[in-house]
Amino acid sequence: MTLELKPLPTLADLQKYVAQMKQERGFNTTDKFYECCLFAEECGELISAVRKNSKHGSIGSGSTIGNVSEELADVLIYLCSIANMHNIDLEAAFRAKEEKNKQRIWKRL
Ligand SMILES: [Mg+2]
Repeated sequence: MTLELKPLPTLADLQKYVAQMKQERGFNTTDKFYECCLFAEECGELISAVRKNSKHGSIGSGSTIGNVSEELADVLIYLCSIANMHNIDLEAAFRAKEEKNKQRIWKRL
């Protein structure tokens, strides 16, 4: 089967694509904790990519950190993957959590 993401994908489409991609490439689909570790690594790479372009520091010349766009994509891939491993529909989870958040009182510090 050809790996293809349709135009204007929904979150469910992205989750399906990631599930198929991981099968095709033989990536981890069972170890949830390991997947969370990889997700955390990608979050770190995203932070490094943002920092690289900020006034707050520099990054080593041998770094393999990509640009912010690439690292955001990596984070999204792992987010979809972790959701898939837990049979969670990300859109439904997002909507449910936002309904809860709307009931909260947000204080500005
Ligand atoms: Mg990355």
